[in-house]
Amino acid sequence: MPVKTIIEPFRIKSVEPIHHTTREEREKMLRDASYNLFLLKADDVLIDLLTDSGTGAMSTHQWAGIMEGDESYAGSKSFDHFKTSVQEITGFKHVMPTHQGRAAERILFQTMCKPGDIVPNNTHFDTTRANTEFTGAEARDIPCPEARIPSDRSPFKGNMDLAALEALLDQNDRHHIPLVMITVTNNSGGGQPVSMANVRAVSALCKKHGIPFYIDACRFAENSYFIKMREPGYADKTPKQIAQELFSYADGCTMSAKKDGMANIGGFLCTNDDRLAQQEKDLLILTEGYPTYGGLAGRDLEAIATGIQEALDIDYLKYRITSTGYLGNKISEQGVPIVQPPGGHAIYIDAKTFLPHIPVAQFPGVALAAELYLEGGIRSVEIGSLMFAGAAKMELVRLAIPRRVYTQSHIDYVVEIILSVWERRQQIKGMRLTYEAPFLRHFTAKLEPVE
Ligand SMILES: *Cc1c(COP(=O)(O)O)cnc(C)c1O
Repeated sequence: MPVKTIIEPFRIKSVEPIHHTTREEREKMLRDASYNLFLLKADDVLIDLLTDSGTGAMSTHQWAGIMEGDESYAGSKSFDHFKTSVQEITGFKHVMPTHQGRAAERILFQTMCKPGDIVPNNTHFDTTRANTEFTGAEARDIPCPEARIPSDRSPFKGNMDLAALEALLDQNDRHHIPLVMITVTNNSGGGQPVSMANVRAVSALCKKHGIPFYIDACRFAENSYFIKMREPGYADKTPKQIAQELFSYADGCTMSAKKDGMANIGGFLCTNDDRLAQQEKDLLILTEGYPTYGGLAGRDLEAIATGIQEALDIDYLKYRITSTGYLGNKISEQGVPIVQPPGGHAIYIDAKTFLPHIPVAQFPGVALAAELYLEGGIRSVEIGSLMFAGAAKMELVRLAIPRRVYTQSHIDYVVEIILSVWERRQQIKGMRLTYEAPFLRHFTAKLEPVE
């Protein structure tokens, strides 16, 4: 009989204590933070599911690499290690380190876009959208139709709408579409994967029109695992072989190493285009640093070189995707409405359905996130009307799972807390804004419960 229990594929060598607080203490801390979880002290949080970005645990190999970091300004051997590792997986000719993903995006879009251009993407992540729009270009989201239906359980809800892409490419001169980008997995769309067939088709359309195709690769390893599990023809391939095929269809990529780089900081930009690479390296020198370190310390390059390989480890990916799915399935079995099926890095609770008595104007997502903190010291984040003001399409609460940080019992605790809030959901009150900044208001907003 095959063993059914999936365990964390690591043992713990160094621990970071977390501590319980009382409900009274949390009530006071939440009031002092004006009901905005960004304003809490991290130390007052028991389980921190605010983000999976840069919050992962490094391995013994990564920590050993930290000690071996070569801090030479130019030609560091840590850069060679980094470049070789990135190239083994992606196959791209030019590899430029950056301090994080958004720096790679800024450099890419500044070299490729001009006002009036359109950049299609399955769904732009918020920094990707902002960096595209900052050049005067339009960031156009064209997710597949099923992506917009939270309860739809299609296996590849991260896919791009191929018909919409084809229409866009046929209607526009290629000089107005400087590149097409696809985000794997689709973060803003619920952490849903993109199929190899979709990537292949997007790549073919781009080739036909002579348009470069780039991948926003932040969660390339999680996406590769989903392809292995769900797409016919890939069950016997390793996640690395799948990742290699995925990248082979593209002309370049941007990457945040804070996600599947398994590092606490860093990113990179890749391209096969010699002429673009030259312009990009010039911009890199201007704001990030010399091209062999690009705003990172040699030790960070070592951590990433090792981390992107570890992210493709089959035991790790199995644990990662299973544990996220476990959380999603446990709460949805009891009726909690979530975006289906569970994504790779996070579970998204549909707060509008969870709290139907709270109008959207009273921020059901903020109310639910506050309640999860009060009930059990869990920090999540609202992705809805507070974050996107009038532009929100859904009222979600995201529970993002840091990599290799929490164990099964931590997740069981999170399940128990969510279910006890679910039991008494009718008593939860809406929220009112008392302060908002003119932009990116969710980071600093102040709120109070509506009595
Ligand atoms: C995090 C992220 C980025 C930006 O990376 P940073 O390292 O936070 O600058 C870009 N795209 C996606 C899909 C992301 O998840």
